[in-house]
Amino acid sequence: MNFKDIKQIYDAHIIPSYARQEVCFVRGEGVRLWDTEGNEYLDFGSGFGVNSVGHAHPEWVSAVNRQAAMLAHTSNLYYTGPAGFLAERLCQISGLRQVFFANSGAEANEGLIKLARKYSADKYNDPKRHKIVTLRQSFHGRTHTTLAATGQDAFHAHFQPLTGGFVHAPAEDIDLLRALGSDICAVLLEPVQGEGGIIPLSAGYLQNVSALCKERDWLLMCDEVQAGIARTGPWFSFQESGILPDALSFAKGIAGGLPLGGFIAGEKALDTLTPGLHATTFGGNPICCAAALATLDILEAEQPTVAERGEYVREKLLSMNLPAIREVRGRGLMLGISVKVDPKAAQKKMLQQGLACLTAGADAVRLLPPLVISKTDLDKGLDIIQNVLRKGGSL
Ligand code: PLP
Repeated sequence: MNFKDIKQIYDAHIIPSYARQEVCFVRGEGVRLWDTEGNEYLDFGSGFGVNSVGHAHPEWVSAVNRQAAMLAHTSNLYYTGPAGFLAERLCQISGLRQVFFANSGAEANEGLIKLARKYSADKYNDPKRHKIVTLRQSFHGRTHTTLAATGQDAFHAHFQPLTGGFVHAPAEDIDLLRALGSDICAVLLEPVQGEGGIIPLSAGYLQNVSALCKERDWLLMCDEVQAGIARTGPWFSFQESGILPDALSFAKGIAGGLPLGGFIAGEKALDTLTPGLHATTFGGNPICCAAALATLDILEAEQPTVAERGEYVREKLLSMNLPAIREVRGRGLMLGISVKVDPKAAQKKMLQQGLACLTAGADAVRLLPPLVISKTDLDKGLDIIQNVLRKGGSL
């Protein structure tokens, strides 16, 4: 297989909904990837934060192989061990109580939306009390309803009319939230906004939102799809601000490379979704859950140093004193380098020099390296970033 052949097949047979980089990867090990031509890359994107334990981690591989050989799938008509053990573990690390397993971040958020509507309907029996507040610059997924929840107009074009029932509020403006009326039932937010540009919400704002939600009995729901599972340092990004949401969604890094997402409900919303009200064929799949249990085991050792390694990267980037760098945003190993050059052009140049990374929002080169990355490999990636960004406008 060479790059040209595979590209030709894609051009002929794959719906062109992605702007892909000109590379086809064939193998990964640790924080490294290799392409069809044998070139080596450092992976600072982790497939959008999914490969949290790097590629082909031996413990992860054997957990997946063991489960695949034992039992791949049975459906939610029955009980299986891995889903149960994983749910228990997720409740321990989140402080919440009951898990629903889905297959992706968007699906996880769809579940949260249903949870909020059902909670409100059960308790208030007022059809008007159904609106969910989300924030500008947020991103909650690409299904039709999570698109409507997403607070970025650019994603809404072409797909009107959108699902109703969402109010988009500017972040950090608690007075505006206070002014909202009796038709609200919940707030859904990312404590660290990802796709919107890597924008952490302040602890003060999150605490105020949490207090307001308690006062009005609005469900506070955190979208931890990108920032959760130790990506920003703590197991979940809300934990940095000292709040406890009523529910959260997770996906991406949880299963280290296999598709798994879900949501966790806390005390307030226990037993809100009863038999027949929510379901998915693949959710809680034993292989994905076994992969997630192995991922969490591996991350136990990594999580305590994520925040410190993130600070190390931030300080090194700032100490480069490059005119092309405006600021470095984010927490832990979820970082956005706000650049004064075209971030997509920078991303392309970095790939040509052997560093795979991402962009976010209008101005940021985004770094989501595997959480197992060493400082030595962080340094190697930072050298490439410096090399590319030092060229400034002549990229
Ligand atoms: N929520 C957040 C915060 C995300 O970053 C994403 C994806 O980038 C999603 C939801 C959607 O996740 P998925 O692509 O798995 O549906």
